[in-house]
Amino acid sequence: MTTVSATQAAYVVAALLFILSLAGLSQHRTSRSGVVWGIAGMVVALAATVGLASRSITATSLVLIAVATAVGAGIGLWRARVVEMTGMPELIAIMHSLVGLAAAFVGWNGYLEVDDELSGSLLGIHHAEVFIGVFIGAVTFTGSVVAYLKLSARIDSRPLTLPGKHVLNIGALVAFVALTVAFVASPNMGLLVAVTVIALALGAHLVASIGGGDMPVVVSMLNSYSGWAAAASGFLLANNLLIVTGALVGSSGAYLSYIMCKAMNRSFISVIAGGFGTPAAAAEDGEQGEHREISAEETAELLRDASSVIITPGYGMAVAQAQYPVAELARKLRERGVEVRFGIHPVAGRLPGHMNVLLAEANVPYDIVLEMDEINDDFAATSVVLVIGANDTVNPAATDNPTSPIAGMPVLHVWEAANVVVFKRSMAAGYAGVQNPLFFRENTQMLFGDAKQRVEDILRGLDALDAPVPEMAGSSR
Ligand code: NDP
Repeated sequence: MTTVSATQAAYVVAALLFILSLAGLSQHRTSRSGVVWGIAGMVVALAATVGLASRSITATSLVLIAVATAVGAGIGLWRARVVEMTGMPELIAIMHSLVGLAAAFVGWNGYLEVDDELSGSLLGIHHAEVFIGVFIGAVTFTGSVVAYLKLSARIDSRPLTLPGKHVLNIGALVAFVALTVAFVASPNMGLLVAVTVIALALGAHLVASIGGGDMPVVVSMLNSYSGWAAAASGFLLANNLLIVTGALVGSSGAYLSYIMCKAMNRSFISVIAGGFGTPAAAAEDGEQGEHREISAEETAELLRDASSVIITPGYGMAVAQAQYPVAELARKLRERGVEVRFGIHPVAGRLPGHMNVLLAEANVPYDIVLEMDEINDDFAATSVVLVIGANDTVNPAATDNPTSPIAGMPVLHVWEAANVVVFKRSMAAGYAGVQNPLFFRENTQMLFGDAKQRVEDILRGLDALDAPVPEMAGSSR
């Protein structure tokens, strides 16, 4: 077998491993094996690519590849080890910027080094690939950098509203199409510079006009763009694996964005178009009534007497890193014969699957972690719901108040339970900036403080309830 056909065979194996990886990652039960398939696919892909390249490059270039791989892998390992789950979206954003930059460079390289054997329509296709690759890569690059800056609060997360912003975006797209036609007819560097500048500006403007609230969806969309940018590079480099992998990333990123929009009742098109036609979420003022408070000890008593408990975690559980005591609480209650389940909203936290990852980390059994649709009908028959650092995802205004900024967003129907205990530090609104009428319902009590500390207090409270009551002095006589 020649090196080329061995490489192509390895690429097919790598592509299959990537597909297995995506399939594995779609369920928590199989997610670890999904990661292993992905790593195996990447090792095969890298080894095959370097093996193919080693036929035509010098020893110095090979050493440079090894050094670049070691440095890249080192940085990747370090970042993956230190990143907090809540900082994941910004890490992903900055990584996508590198994919975009690489795709733009590959495009420019394709222009500067044209294969002598190309002619006629094949040459035209090559020039179109160069142009499209540079465009998608440059949009992804600046878009991801702006998303990173917004997510890490280095720039204002409010949407930029330039006059005629939609005209600017559409104008940039029209210019791209016209320049592509001109470039294919007569390729020259001026046109390529023009499209690079337009794409860099478009990427920055597109993401700058989207508010911080939609930023996680934007990150997922940029994930999709980076996939298409990689696929465009694959065409230019005649690398089948890059085309397949780029298409996998592009389509899965687009699908993830769609799922997130659906779970938040946001329009996919409006997010892509930079918040077109979406009213900004505003804090709701107005009288809500009185809220009631509960102590950790009283909550322990409530749980001791409960027959069924549902825990609905949210962003606050991630901030407090409360998943370990929460897992311990679930274990203790189950030992006492209480039916304990977790209800997970698809956008609880700051990225899809955020809560599932945290609960898996704390070894909560998968079979008691249920999706919103699986558990929503069970709240009415539940004794106690513990809302741990969740807010928007349990807000009844989404179903009851058609004027609410989150109206129509599917939410967990926690208020149908006999008792609801909400863990948070204050009466502050959630991510969408909307007040939550749940906090003022008759069956709701607020347990204020850091979620981790409060859950630990409840664990101590349960132990104290279990401890034998010391006998009164002299009572045995
Ligand atoms: P929210 O972000 O609505 O609310 C989190 C709550 O946690 C706050 O009200 C806060 O209240 C509380 N909190 C913060 N820190 C602590 C702490 N240390 N201890 C106890 N409580 C704490 O949470 P949800 O998870 O319910 O909702 C997620 C939001 O994010 C939704 O609006 C969703 O649309 C949005 N979103 C999610 C995406 C995803 O993919 N998951 C993507 C894009 C957006 P207080 O400050 O009073 O403590």
